[in-house]
Amino acid sequence: MATKRDYYEVLGVDKGVTAEDLKKAYRKLAIKYHPDKNPGDKGAEEKFKELGEAYEALSDPQKRAAYDQYGHAAFDPRQRAGAGGARGGGFHDPSDIFEQVFGNRGGGAESIFDAFFGGGNGERRNPGGPERGSDLRYDLEITFMEGALGCEKDITVTKAATCEGCEGSGAEKGSGQKNCTTCGGRGQVISNRGIFSIQQTCPRCEGRGKIVEKPCKACNGAGRKDKTSTIKLKIPAGVDTGARLRSSGNGEGGLRGGPTGDLYVVLDVKEHEIFQRDGDDLHCEVPINFVVTALGGEVEVPTLAGGAQIRIPAGTQTGSTFRLKGKGIKNVQGYGTGDLLVRVKVEVPQKLNTQQKAKLEEFAALCGADVNPESSGFFEKVKRLFR
Ligand SMILES: [Zn+2]
Ligand SMILES: [Zn+2]
Repeated sequence: MATKRDYYEVLGVDKGVTAEDLKKAYRKLAIKYHPDKNPGDKGAEEKFKELGEAYEALSDPQKRAAYDQYGHAAFDPRQRAGAGGARGGGFHDPSDIFEQVFGNRGGGAESIFDAFFGGGNGERRNPGGPERGSDLRYDLEITFMEGALGCEKDITVTKAATCEGCEGSGAEKGSGQKNCTTCGGRGQVISNRGIFSIQQTCPRCEGRGKIVEKPCKACNGAGRKDKTSTIKLKIPAGVDTGARLRSSGNGEGGLRGGPTGDLYVVLDVKEHEIFQRDGDDLHCEVPINFVVTALGGEVEVPTLAGGAQIRIPAGTQTGSTFRLKGKGIKNVQGYGTGDLLVRVKVEVPQKLNTQQKAKLEEFAALCGADVNPESSGFFEKVKRLFR
């Protein structure tokens, strides 16, 4: 993986930015790079993810302090193993706001963001009290058909689960807690930066002011231990890329009696080689032999459920579209089923042999302007133009 950009740089703010201005900067950029505003733009999608990650870190005073001190290493479990705490870090995906419905689209990003940011960010958790486990994100790629028809998937997740030995307290059974010696139990430390003194959350006790007397042997005092489990997911028919499924209670384990977080499965639905999706409608282009389009007839077209016969009238042109009602995708919220729109592409024969050519020339000799009214009419216009 490439080196990570500085979080302040990602958000285009100075190190001393206030929480208010940080939020403003994030909001402006999140709207600009939101996937709904930049469909199919991988660059914007990356930026959007990067923004979410940076904001997640900097909007939390404790995480911001840790980041200021340790940089990206503050959130890297490999580098901070043993330091306890900040691992996992949860995730803050700006798409969370679209959670109400799976893959909800449109509806004015601005207003949705307002609703999201309006929801008071000022919750302070009680240091040393119960702590809810972080929500986790799992990206799952599924095929077009799995998304269209629904499916069941088993996913294997390794996550920090509440340690069974100490029930998330981090303390060996029978041992208690003592004041943190780094901050003298205040939970905050003062560091000097040039002429400034900056008060920061204590990195050792992470603001709790207390550390365990005897760390639990099973989890080295972290209160959580990595655990791998398999989760069965039922994916409803009609989901599209960006849809999020919540698997309640399958996130990171809580600490000191706090509840478990949730697992969010974010879907990436692969493209199909025949069908293209437009909301709940499906589009597909079907090449048809020019003789059949000229004479009319039955043709087989693909649908989600297999082949279907449709009747095309004589003289069908390229671009003619036939709508098959209810043969599209089932709406994920249960609002009916879309249609399948079959677009005809007339296939002109290629690599004709002598006999075939002769027959076509014979046919052409029999044709007057009435057989090809469009092209005859067009050339009449061209002639008038140069007269
Ligand atoms: Zn433990
Ligand atoms: Zn401390």
